[in-house]
Amino acid sequence: MTSGIYLDHNATTQPAPQVVAEMFDALQLAWANPSSTHAPGQAARRLLADARARVAAFLGCQGAELVFTSGATEANHMAVLGALAAAQGRRRWVLSAVEHPGLLTLAQRLADEGVPVDRIGVDAQGRLDLAQARTLITDDVALVSLMGANNETGVLMPLREVAELAHARGALLHVDATQLAGKAALSFATSGADLMSVSAHKIAGPKGTGALLVRKGLVLPPLLSGRQERHRRGGTENIPGIAGFAAACDLAAATLSDDIARLLALRELLEAGLAAIEGVQIYGRDAARLPNTTCLRFGELDAEQVLSRLERAGIVASSGAACSAGGTQPSHVLLAMGASAAQARAGIRFSLGRDSRAGDIAATLAAVQRVIVPLLEPQPLAA
Ligand code: PMP
Repeated sequence: MTSGIYLDHNATTQPAPQVVAEMFDALQLAWANPSSTHAPGQAARRLLADARARVAAFLGCQGAELVFTSGATEANHMAVLGALAAAQGRRRWVLSAVEHPGLLTLAQRLADEGVPVDRIGVDAQGRLDLAQARTLITDDVALVSLMGANNETGVLMPLREVAELAHARGALLHVDATQLAGKAALSFATSGADLMSVSAHKIAGPKGTGALLVRKGLVLPPLLSGRQERHRRGGTENIPGIAGFAAACDLAAATLSDDIARLLALRELLEAGLAAIEGVQIYGRDAARLPNTTCLRFGELDAEQVLSRLERAGIVASSGAACSAGGTQPSHVLLAMGASAAQARAGIRFSLGRDSRAGDIAATLAAVQRVIVPLLEPQPLAA
Protein backbone atom coordinates (compact mmCIF):
# COMPACT_ATOMS: atom_id res chain seq x y z
CA MET A 1 0.00 0.00 0.00
CA THR A 2 1.29 3.45 -0.82
CA SER A 3 0.31 6.16 1.59
CA GLY A 4 0.26 9.58 0.04
CA ILE A 5 1.25 10.65 -3.45
CA TYR A 6 4.15 8.51 -4.67
CA LEU A 7 6.70 10.52 -6.66
CA ASP A 8 9.65 8.14 -6.34
CA HIS A 9 9.29 5.99 -9.46
CA ASN A 10 13.03 6.08 -10.23
CA ALA A 11 13.62 4.20 -6.97
CA THR A 12 11.05 1.56 -7.79
CA THR A 13 7.55 1.15 -9.20
CA GLN A 14 4.49 -0.68 -7.97
CA PRO A 15 4.00 -3.92 -9.92
CA ALA A 16 1.15 -3.56 -12.42
CA PRO A 17 -1.92 -5.83 -11.97
CA GLN A 18 -1.04 -7.74 -15.19
CA VAL A 19 2.44 -8.35 -13.77
CA VAL A 20 1.08 -9.70 -10.51
CA ALA A 21 -1.41 -11.91 -12.40
CA GLU A 22 1.30 -13.42 -14.63
CA MET A 23 3.59 -14.01 -11.68
CA PHE A 24 0.78 -15.69 -9.78
CA ASP A 25 0.02 -17.97 -12.74
CA ALA A 26 3.70 -18.80 -13.19
CA LEU A 27 4.00 -19.74 -9.52
CA GLN A 28 0.99 -22.00 -9.76
CA LEU A 29 1.37 -23.48 -13.24
CA ALA A 30 5.08 -23.33 -14.10
CA TRP A 31 6.72 -24.12 -10.79
CA ALA A 32 8.77 -27.02 -12.12
CA ASN A 33 12.44 -26.77 -12.97
CA PRO A 34 12.85 -25.63 -16.61
CA SER A 35 15.97 -27.81 -16.91
CA SER A 36 13.92 -30.96 -16.22
CA THR A 37 13.04 -33.07 -19.23
CA HIS A 38 9.65 -34.23 -17.88
CA ALA A 39 6.38 -32.60 -18.89
CA PRO A 40 6.07 -30.16 -15.94
CA GLY A 41 9.67 -29.05 -16.53
CA GLN A 42 8.96 -28.54 -20.20
CA ALA A 43 5.95 -26.36 -19.35
CA ALA A 44 8.24 -24.12 -17.28
CA ARG A 45 10.75 -24.16 -20.14
CA ARG A 46 8.07 -23.00 -22.58
CA LEU A 47 7.12 -20.15 -20.28
CA LEU A 48 10.78 -19.12 -20.09
CA ALA A 49 11.14 -19.16 -23.89
CA ASP A 50 7.95 -17.14 -24.32
CA ALA A 51 9.05 -14.57 -21.71
CA ARG A 52 12.50 -14.32 -23.30
CA ALA A 53 10.96 -13.51 -26.68
CA ARG A 54 8.73 -10.79 -25.18
CA VAL A 55 11.52 -9.12 -23.18
CA ALA A 56 13.87 -9.30 -26.18
CA ALA A 57 11.22 -7.73 -28.43
CA PHE A 58 10.82 -4.83 -26.03
CA LEU A 59 14.56 -4.24 -25.64
CA GLY A 60 15.39 -4.67 -29.33
CA CYS A 61 17.73 -7.61 -28.92
CA GLN A 62 17.75 -11.26 -29.95
CA GLY A 63 16.58 -13.85 -27.44
CA ALA A 64 20.02 -15.44 -27.45
CA GLU A 65 21.58 -12.10 -26.46
CA LEU A 66 19.48 -11.92 -23.28
CA VAL A 67 20.80 -13.30 -19.98
CA PHE A 68 18.31 -13.12 -17.11
CA THR A 69 19.84 -11.95 -13.84
CA SER A 70 18.72 -10.95 -10.35
CA GLY A 71 18.58 -7.30 -11.42
CA ALA A 72 20.72 -4.50 -12.77
CA THR A 73 23.29 -4.66 -9.98
CA GLU A 74 24.17 -8.24 -10.90
CA ALA A 75 24.06 -7.40 -14.61
CA ASN A 76 26.46 -4.48 -14.04
CA HIS A 77 28.88 -6.69 -12.12
CA MET A 78 28.67 -9.42 -14.73
CA ALA A 79 29.35 -6.93 -17.52
CA VAL A 80 32.31 -5.24 -15.88
CA LEU A 81 34.03 -8.21 -14.26
CA GLY A 82 33.38 -10.32 -17.35
CA ALA A 83 34.60 -7.74 -19.85
CA LEU A 84 37.73 -6.97 -17.83
CA ALA A 85 38.52 -10.69 -17.47
CA ALA A 86 37.94 -11.35 -21.18
CA ALA A 87 40.00 -8.40 -22.44
CA GLN A 88 43.35 -9.42 -23.78
CA GLY A 89 46.24 -7.09 -23.00
CA ARG A 90 43.90 -4.31 -21.88
CA ARG A 91 43.14 -3.50 -18.25
CA ARG A 92 41.70 0.00 -18.06
CA TRP A 93 38.05 0.67 -17.22
CA VAL A 94 36.52 4.07 -17.94
CA LEU A 95 33.14 5.03 -16.49
CA SER A 96 31.26 8.24 -15.84
CA ALA A 97 31.49 9.98 -12.47
CA VAL A 98 27.70 9.91 -12.12
CA GLU A 99 27.07 6.15 -12.45
CA HIS A 100 24.87 4.31 -9.98
CA PRO A 101 26.48 3.87 -6.53
CA GLY A 102 26.67 0.08 -7.07
CA LEU A 103 28.94 0.57 -10.07
CA LEU A 104 31.00 3.31 -8.42
CA THR A 105 31.56 1.07 -5.40
CA LEU A 106 32.79 -1.67 -7.74
CA ALA A 107 35.08 0.91 -9.40
CA GLN A 108 36.56 1.81 -6.02
CA ARG A 109 37.04 -1.86 -5.13
CA LEU A 110 38.79 -2.64 -8.43
CA ALA A 111 40.94 0.49 -8.18
CA ASP A 112 42.00 -0.62 -4.69
CA GLU A 113 42.97 -3.97 -6.23
CA GLY A 114 45.16 -2.19 -8.76
CA VAL A 115 42.87 -2.02 -11.82
CA PRO A 116 43.37 1.30 -13.62
CA VAL A 117 40.02 3.10 -13.45
CA ASP A 118 39.16 6.56 -14.81
CA ARG A 119 36.00 8.60 -14.39
CA ILE A 120 34.58 10.96 -17.01
CA GLY A 121 33.11 14.13 -15.53
CA VAL A 122 29.93 16.03 -16.36
CA ASP A 123 29.12 19.72 -16.80
CA ALA A 124 26.87 21.86 -14.56
CA GLN A 125 23.81 20.51 -16.41
CA GLY A 126 24.87 16.90 -15.82
CA ARG A 127 25.90 16.31 -19.46
CA LEU A 128 28.90 14.07 -20.09
CA ASP A 129 32.19 15.85 -20.82
CA LEU A 130 32.82 14.43 -24.28
CA ALA A 131 36.18 16.18 -24.62
CA GLN A 132 37.38 14.39 -21.49
CA ALA A 133 35.88 11.12 -22.78
CA ARG A 134 37.97 11.54 -25.91
CA THR A 135 41.20 11.88 -23.91
CA LEU A 136 40.42 9.10 -21.42
CA ILE A 137 39.32 6.46 -23.92
CA THR A 138 42.71 5.30 -25.12
CA ASP A 139 44.04 2.11 -26.74
CA ASP A 140 44.55 0.36 -23.39
CA VAL A 141 40.88 0.67 -22.36
CA ALA A 142 39.04 -2.65 -22.11
CA LEU A 143 35.63 -1.30 -21.23
CA VAL A 144 33.67 1.94 -21.07
CA SER A 145 30.57 2.01 -18.82
CA LEU A 146 27.98 4.72 -19.26
CA MET A 147 24.43 4.92 -17.97
CA GLY A 148 21.66 5.60 -20.46
CA ALA A 149 20.04 8.15 -18.16
CA ASN A 150 21.02 9.34 -14.72
CA ASN A 151 18.79 8.11 -11.92
CA GLU A 152 18.98 11.39 -9.93
CA THR A 153 18.69 14.05 -12.63
CA GLY A 154 17.24 12.08 -15.55
CA VAL A 155 19.92 13.58 -17.83
CA LEU A 156 20.49 11.44 -20.94
CA MET A 157 23.98 10.34 -21.88
CA PRO A 158 25.46 10.46 -25.42
CA LEU A 159 25.50 6.71 -26.08
CA ARG A 160 26.11 6.85 -29.81
CA GLU A 161 29.05 9.25 -29.53
CA VAL A 162 30.69 7.24 -26.76
CA ALA A 163 30.08 3.97 -28.62
CA GLU A 164 31.98 5.45 -31.56
CA LEU A 165 34.85 6.60 -29.33
CA ALA A 166 35.05 3.23 -27.57
CA HIS A 167 34.86 1.15 -30.74
CA ALA A 168 37.43 3.31 -32.55
CA ARG A 169 39.86 2.36 -29.75
CA GLY A 170 38.88 -1.30 -29.68
CA ALA A 171 37.07 -1.05 -26.31
CA LEU A 172 33.64 -2.43 -25.43
CA LEU A 173 30.73 -0.22 -24.35
CA HIS A 174 28.56 -1.25 -21.40
CA VAL A 175 25.34 0.76 -20.95
CA ASP A 176 23.42 0.72 -17.68
CA ALA A 177 19.98 1.31 -19.20
CA THR A 178 18.10 0.74 -15.93
CA GLN A 179 16.50 4.20 -15.95
CA LEU A 180 16.18 4.50 -19.72
CA ALA A 181 14.14 1.36 -20.41
CA GLY A 182 10.43 2.11 -20.34
CA LYS A 183 10.94 5.89 -20.24
CA ALA A 184 12.44 6.50 -23.69
CA ALA A 185 12.69 4.62 -26.96
CA LEU A 186 15.44 2.04 -26.59
CA SER A 187 16.86 -0.62 -28.88
CA PHE A 188 19.92 -2.66 -27.99
CA ALA A 189 20.49 -3.40 -31.68
CA THR A 190 20.93 0.26 -32.63
CA SER A 191 22.25 1.67 -29.32
CA GLY A 192 25.91 0.95 -30.07
CA ALA A 193 26.21 -0.92 -26.77
CA ASP A 194 27.98 -4.27 -26.54
CA LEU A 195 26.54 -4.93 -23.09
CA MET A 196 23.38 -3.48 -21.53
CA SER A 197 21.94 -3.80 -18.02
CA VAL A 198 18.22 -3.53 -17.26
CA SER A 199 15.96 -4.10 -14.27
CA ALA A 200 12.30 -5.15 -14.12
CA HIS A 201 11.27 -3.25 -11.01
CA LYS A 202 11.72 0.17 -12.61
CA ILE A 203 9.02 -0.62 -15.19
CA ALA A 204 6.21 -2.00 -13.01
CA GLY A 205 7.81 -5.44 -12.87
CA PRO A 206 9.07 -7.35 -9.83
CA LYS A 207 12.24 -6.71 -7.84
CA GLY A 208 15.04 -9.27 -8.06
CA THR A 209 14.73 -9.70 -11.84
CA GLY A 210 16.68 -8.06 -14.62
CA ALA A 211 18.92 -8.87 -17.53
CA LEU A 212 22.27 -8.35 -19.13
CA LEU A 213 22.16 -8.08 -22.90
CA VAL A 214 25.34 -9.43 -24.47
CA ARG A 215 26.02 -8.66 -28.12
CA LYS A 216 26.01 -11.78 -30.28
CA GLY A 217 29.47 -13.29 -30.57
CA LEU A 218 30.78 -11.74 -27.37
CA VAL A 219 31.81 -14.35 -24.81
CA LEU A 220 32.30 -13.33 -21.18
CA PRO A 221 33.22 -15.56 -18.25
CA PRO A 222 30.11 -15.92 -16.06
CA LEU A 223 29.77 -14.37 -12.64
CA LEU A 224 27.77 -17.39 -11.46
CA SER A 225 28.81 -20.69 -12.98
CA GLY A 226 26.25 -23.25 -14.09
CA ARG A 227 24.47 -24.58 -17.15
CA GLN A 228 21.51 -22.23 -17.24
CA GLU A 229 21.25 -19.31 -19.65
CA ARG A 230 23.62 -21.05 -22.12
CA HIS A 231 26.27 -21.38 -19.41
CA ARG A 232 26.27 -17.61 -18.94
CA ARG A 233 24.44 -17.44 -15.59
CA GLY A 234 24.08 -20.41 -13.31
CA GLY A 235 21.14 -20.94 -10.96
CA THR A 236 17.60 -22.21 -11.48
CA GLU A 237 15.75 -19.49 -13.36
CA ASN A 238 13.45 -17.16 -11.43
CA ILE A 239 10.41 -18.16 -13.51
CA PRO A 240 7.77 -16.04 -11.70
CA GLY A 241 10.07 -13.01 -11.76
CA ILE A 242 10.85 -13.50 -15.44
CA ALA A 243 7.15 -13.93 -16.25
CA GLY A 244 6.46 -10.65 -14.44
CA PHE A 245 9.31 -8.98 -16.32
CA ALA A 246 7.77 -10.08 -19.64
CA ALA A 247 4.35 -8.74 -18.62
CA ALA A 248 5.95 -5.43 -17.61
CA CYS A 249 7.72 -5.20 -20.99
CA ASP A 250 4.47 -5.84 -22.89
CA LEU A 251 2.77 -3.11 -20.89
CA ALA A 252 5.62 -0.64 -21.36
CA ALA A 253 5.76 -1.33 -25.11
CA ALA A 254 2.01 -0.77 -25.47
CA THR A 255 1.96 2.54 -23.59
CA LEU A 256 5.45 4.01 -24.09
CA SER A 257 4.71 6.83 -26.50
CA ASP A 258 1.57 7.91 -24.60
CA ASP A 259 3.43 7.68 -21.30
CA ILE A 260 6.28 9.86 -22.56
CA ALA A 261 3.95 12.64 -23.76
CA ARG A 262 1.79 12.49 -20.64
CA LEU A 263 4.70 12.47 -18.19
CA LEU A 264 6.42 15.31 -20.00
CA ALA A 265 3.28 17.47 -19.74
CA LEU A 266 2.97 16.70 -16.02
CA ARG A 267 6.64 17.40 -15.41
CA GLU A 268 6.37 20.76 -17.20
CA LEU A 269 3.47 21.64 -14.93
CA LEU A 270 5.47 20.65 -11.86
CA GLU A 271 8.60 22.51 -12.95
CA ALA A 272 6.70 25.67 -13.89
CA GLY A 273 5.30 25.79 -10.35
CA LEU A 274 8.62 25.00 -8.69
CA ALA A 275 10.68 27.40 -10.82
CA ALA A 276 8.46 30.28 -9.73
CA ILE A 277 9.61 29.83 -6.12
CA GLU A 278 12.48 32.08 -5.10
CA GLY A 279 15.56 30.03 -4.18
CA VAL A 280 14.63 26.93 -6.18
CA GLN A 281 17.21 25.53 -8.59
CA ILE A 282 16.16 22.80 -11.02
CA TYR A 283 19.09 20.70 -12.24
CA GLY A 284 19.71 19.79 -15.87
CA ARG A 285 16.89 21.98 -17.16
CA ASP A 286 18.76 22.72 -20.40
CA ALA A 287 19.87 19.12 -20.92
CA ALA A 288 18.01 16.34 -22.73
CA ARG A 289 16.35 14.45 -19.87
CA LEU A 290 13.95 11.63 -19.09
CA PRO A 291 10.35 12.86 -19.24
CA ASN A 292 9.52 11.89 -15.65
CA THR A 293 12.38 13.25 -13.54
CA THR A 294 12.87 16.59 -11.77
CA CYS A 295 15.92 17.10 -9.59
CA LEU A 296 16.05 20.34 -7.63
CA ARG A 297 17.03 22.03 -4.42
CA PHE A 298 15.15 24.46 -2.22
CA GLY A 299 17.93 26.93 -1.41
CA GLU A 300 20.27 24.95 0.81
CA LEU A 301 17.59 23.29 2.90
CA ASP A 302 18.83 19.82 3.83
CA ALA A 303 17.13 17.09 1.78
CA GLU A 304 16.23 15.09 4.86
CA GLN A 305 14.31 17.99 6.38
CA VAL A 306 12.48 18.75 3.13
CA LEU A 307 11.57 15.10 2.51
CA SER A 308 10.23 14.50 6.00
CA ARG A 309 8.08 17.65 5.85
CA LEU A 310 6.78 16.66 2.42
CA GLU A 311 5.99 13.15 3.60
CA ARG A 312 4.03 14.48 6.57
CA ALA A 313 2.12 16.54 4.00
CA GLY A 314 1.38 13.37 1.99
CA ILE A 315 4.07 13.60 -0.71
CA VAL A 316 6.64 10.81 -1.07
CA ALA A 317 9.83 11.81 -2.89
CA SER A 318 13.53 11.10 -2.42
CA SER A 319 17.03 12.47 -2.65
CA GLY A 320 20.25 11.30 -4.21
CA ALA A 321 21.92 12.03 -0.94
CA ALA A 322 22.36 9.07 1.36
CA CYS A 323 21.20 9.54 4.92
CA SER A 324 23.34 7.89 7.55
CA ALA A 325 23.82 8.14 11.28
CA GLY A 326 26.53 10.73 10.70
CA GLY A 327 24.11 12.99 8.80
CA THR A 328 23.23 13.44 5.15
CA GLN A 329 25.98 12.57 2.66
CA PRO A 330 26.05 14.90 -0.34
CA SER A 331 24.89 13.48 -3.70
CA HIS A 332 27.88 12.40 -5.80
CA VAL A 333 25.94 13.37 -8.91
CA LEU A 334 25.35 16.96 -7.81
CA LEU A 335 28.96 17.25 -6.59
CA ALA A 336 30.13 16.11 -10.03
CA MET A 337 27.92 18.85 -11.51
CA GLY A 338 29.82 21.44 -9.47
CA ALA A 339 27.42 21.86 -6.55
CA SER A 340 28.87 22.76 -3.14
CA ALA A 341 28.59 20.15 -0.36
CA ALA A 342 25.66 22.05 1.19
CA GLN A 343 23.90 22.27 -2.19
CA ALA A 344 24.56 18.58 -2.87
CA ARG A 345 22.97 17.71 0.48
CA ALA A 346 19.89 19.68 -0.55
CA GLY A 347 19.06 17.78 -3.77
CA ILE A 348 15.50 16.43 -4.02
CA ARG A 349 14.10 14.18 -6.74
CA PHE A 350 10.51 13.99 -7.89
CA SER A 351 10.09 11.08 -10.30
CA LEU A 352 6.67 10.57 -11.88
CA GLY A 353 5.18 7.33 -13.14
CA ARG A 354 2.24 5.65 -14.83
CA ASP A 355 -0.08 6.36 -11.90
CA SER A 356 0.80 10.08 -11.65
CA ARG A 357 -2.03 12.50 -12.42
CA ALA A 358 -2.42 16.29 -12.79
CA GLY A 359 -4.12 16.36 -9.37
CA ASP A 360 -0.95 14.90 -7.83
CA ILE A 361 1.10 17.74 -9.28
CA ALA A 362 -1.33 20.35 -7.96
CA ALA A 363 -1.27 18.68 -4.53
CA THR A 364 2.54 18.56 -4.56
CA LEU A 365 2.86 22.23 -5.45
CA ALA A 366 0.33 23.13 -2.75
CA ALA A 367 2.24 21.06 -0.17
CA VAL A 368 5.51 22.73 -1.18
CA GLN A 369 3.93 26.16 -0.72
CA ARG A 370 2.55 25.16 2.66
CA VAL A 371 5.44 23.31 4.29
CA ILE A 372 8.65 24.24 2.41
CA VAL A 373 8.34 27.80 1.14
CA PRO A 374 7.99 29.29 4.65
CA LEU A 375 11.43 27.80 5.46
CA LEU A 376 12.96 29.64 2.51
CA GLU A 377 11.74 33.05 3.53
CA PRO A 378 14.22 35.22 5.44
CA GLN A 379 13.54 34.84 9.15
CA PRO A 380 12.74 38.10 10.99
CA LEU A 381 15.61 39.23 13.16
CA ALA A 382 15.15 38.60 16.85
CA ALA A 383 14.47 41.82 18.79
N1 PMP B 1 21.53 1.21 -12.11
C1 PMP B 1 20.72 2.28 -12.01
C2 PMP B 1 20.93 3.46 -12.89
C3 PMP B 1 19.65 2.26 -11.09
O1 PMP B 1 18.86 3.33 -10.99
C4 PMP B 1 19.47 1.12 -10.27
C5 PMP B 1 18.34 1.04 -9.26
N2 PMP B 1 18.35 2.05 -8.31
C6 PMP B 1 20.35 0.04 -10.42
C7 PMP B 1 21.36 0.13 -11.35
C8 PMP B 1 20.23 -1.21 -9.57
O2 PMP B 1 19.17 -2.00 -10.05
P1 PMP B 1 18.65 -3.29 -9.23
O3 PMP B 1 17.83 -2.74 -8.10
O4 PMP B 1 17.82 -4.07 -10.21
O5 PMP B 1 19.83 -4.05 -8.78
